[in-house]
This record gives sequence, C-alpha cells and structure tokens, in this order.
Amino acid sequence: MSQIFVIDDDHFSRRLLERQLAVLKHDGVRSFARAEEALGVVASDPGAVGLVLCGLEMDEMDGVAVLRQLGRIGFVGGLGLITGGGERVARTAEELARAHGLQILGALHKPVPTSRLQQIVERARSMARPKQRRPSGPAYTAAEIARAIGCGEITCHFQPKVDMATARMVGVESLARWQHPRDGMVYPDRFISIAEEQGLIDDLTRAVLAAALQAARQWHRAGLAIHVAVNVSMDNLVRLDFADLVAAELERWGVAPGRLVLEVTESRLMTDRAAALETLTRLRLAHIGLAIDDFGTGHSSLSHLRDLPFTELKLDRSFVHGATRDPVQQAILEASLGVSARIGLLTVAEGVEDLEDWQAMQASHCDMAQGYFIARPMPAPALADWNRAWQARACELTPPAPSRSLG
Ligand code: C2E
Ligand code: CA
Ligand code: CA
Repeated sequence: MSQIFVIDDDHFSRRLLERQLAVLKHDGVRSFARAEEALGVVASDPGAVGLVLCGLEMDEMDGVAVLRQLGRIGFVGGLGLITGGGERVARTAEELARAHGLQILGALHKPVPTSRLQQIVERARSMARPKQRRPSGPAYTAAEIARAIGCGEITCHFQPKVDMATARMVGVESLARWQHPRDGMVYPDRFISIAEEQGLIDDLTRAVLAAALQAARQWHRAGLAIHVAVNVSMDNLVRLDFADLVAAELERWGVAPGRLVLEVTESRLMTDRAAALETLTRLRLAHIGLAIDDFGTGHSSLSHLRDLPFTELKLDRSFVHGATRDPVQQAILEASLGVSARIGLLTVAEGVEDLEDWQAMQASHCDMAQGYFIARPMPAPALADWNRAWQARACELTPPAPSRSLG
C-alpha cells in the first residue's frame, strides 16, 4: 500500500501507533504532531497516501477541522479516526467524514488494540480506488428530460420484495431508469430532483406508473400474484386530481387497486399539507396501498405515521444493513419495528445486502425484505427466471418452524 499518515498531537498515542505499525511490518509510515503539516503533504499528492489515521481530540486543529480539509483536498484514501472519547462522538465524526465524501474505515478507541489497527490497515489495502458507480456527468436540462419522457425513454426496473416468513416474492418496487440514446442507462439520482424542480414530475410519474402497471398486468396474466410499488413525490400528491389519474391508469391496465402500492418520501418540504392529505386519503379510500419510504431518515418522521394513512413502512437501508454490528442502529431498528407492528403496518427492510442482514431481519420479525442479497433491480422480462432461481435458493433461507404469513 502507499503511505500511512498518523496525525495526532498526543505524543504517546503517536509513538504507540508507529510502533504497532512497525510490528505489523508496514513501511512508509509518517507521523505528524501538527495536522497542518500533514495536510500540506496530502494536498501536494492526494493519491500517494493510502491511509490517514487521525486523532479527533487535538488542540491546534482538531479532527473535525482535519476532516473538512481532507474533503476539500479530495483525499481518496482510507481514513481511521483515533479517539479517547465515547462511542457516540466517534459515530458522529464518522458520519461527518462521510458527509465530506471521505472513505471512513472506522473509529479506533485509545489505546488502540493491534488487532483492530491491523483490520483497518487491511481494509485500506483492499479498498477499491474511488469507485464511481455512476459517472456523474453534467446535469440534464428540463428540456432533455421532457423530451425523454415524451419519447418513452423513461423505463422501469423492478426489484423484488419477499415475505420473510416464506421467502416468497410478494411484490416488486418500480425504479425509474432513463435509457439515454448517448449516455446509456441513467439512474434516478440524475433526473428525479431536476424533474421535481422543473415541474416535470407529474409527467414522469405517469410514465413510470404506466410502465409498472403494464408489467403488472403481464405478471398477473402469467399467474404471478404480486403487487407493484411505484415511487411518488410530494409534488405529485399536492395535485388534487392525482388520485383520479392513478385510478384511470389502474383501469386502463386492468390492475386491481389493491395490487398497487405508492411509496412516498418527503424529499421536499410539504408545501401544501392539506392537499397532500386529501390525495393520500382518497388513494387509501380507493384501496391503494401507501408506503412511507426511507423510514428513520430525516425526511420521514413519526408524526407522518400518526397523521397519514400508511399501510406499509419501509425501513431505510442505513438502519438495516449491518444492524447486528451496531447497537444504536439496532435499537432504532427494533423501536421502528415495534411502532410499525403496534399500529398494524407491514414492514419492509430495505438494503438487505447479505446473509447476516437477512437473518437479523428474520429474527426481528420484519414482514418483508428487499435488497441486493435477494436481487438487484432488473428489467420486467427477467423477473420470472429470477423467481425460479430464487425459489430454489429460498428453501435454505426459511426457518424450519411454521410462522406468520402476510395474509
Ligand atoms: P428508494 O425508493 O429508496 O429505492 C431504493 C434504492 O436503493 C434504489 O436505487 C435501489 O436500486 C437501491 N437498492 C436496493 N437494494 C439495495 C441494497 O441492498 N443496497 C444498496 N446499497 N442499495 C439498494 P435507485 O434505483 O438508484 O433509486 C434511487 C431513488 O430514486 C429511489 O430510492 C427513489 O427515491 C428515487 N426514485 C426511483 N424511481 C423513482 C420514480 O419513479 N419516481 C420518484 N419520484 N422517485 C424515484
Ligand atoms: Ca422507494
Ligand atoms: Ca427507500
């Protein structure tokens, strides 16, 4: 690996880390008592440093300021935070590092055990170089997005939702994809918010809804009795004719209202609360399911559960993936599941990425799961084949004892 920088004004801590790194046979270790000096070296060649181990509690420039500077420089290596403080402060600092776009590998509590240090160094070594899942090109204009909607370039991929008790697929979530003639497949993070800001979200939602219901009709005809979920934005809900529009689309594609779930995230401030409430009530009266999306994040709060007629709660993946390794995350997750069960909502765990997540959610009696462990979003025609393969795999995942079904 390239160089390791130790930044801490605590002489003892610095020397100890140097010695431990020497025991672990890592060359290229440089240590700095002054953060400013270290930052200058990193700034001159950000790619040359593979790992920065930085103290949080420093006098001259504290770790919080260092994180900001590393983010500004565009440091792409791994980062370990050394702290003498409590777990919660370390967590907040980790979050902060992420907010600055840094690749945080974990917090190390003083005195740092050599095994933990080794773990961080190994992770830095095996860390993929800054991977960009989706090349973020220039922002698209409203005119380009409007054209794409008009030309039918906005399509849907579908991600299965499975019942945790039986491991059977019970539904799919529709996720918008833009089949761009020049840029290939464009993901929603590059066009949804622009569509919202530019007044195009109604047309976009209508296109996604039509694609989702068309696919649902095919699956129902083929005997797959699943529901289909569509994401809607708050801007859709403030239109007083939205419920009529949805009803008309259901009718057009011959899909029963009970087979549709609309997922709502409050991504922008609810501008017209009364209108949104009215639409949600009418959708519910029409027997359309309503899910509160990204539950647990800043945008979706408990008051919405109290005031809005939701039928389903989708736990945000930040509380699901890796919950077993984090007591705070686990506590929030259990509390959310408790609230959900008490008020009679179905709960979906999002972001189930590995077997550990799956087993943890199963043990927590979560109703449904969705995530890369089960399947990535896929085009509609791929679903039947995936389902056959999944059924074979699912036999090994269901608990032996008979348990609840979704009813
Ligand atoms: P979301 O509604 O929370 O959708 C789930 C996102 O998480 C999807 O990203 C999905 O591909 C991804 N995902 C699923 N399982 C996993 C997992 O195990 N691990 C990880 N790391 N990620 C997972 P995608 O398709 O990029 O969508 C991003 C967001 O864009 C969606 O988040 C949703 O808020 C929004 N969106 C997508 N389609 C539409 C749409 O038609 N209308 C509106 N208004 N928003 C949409
Ligand atoms: Ca969603
Ligand atoms: Ca979500």
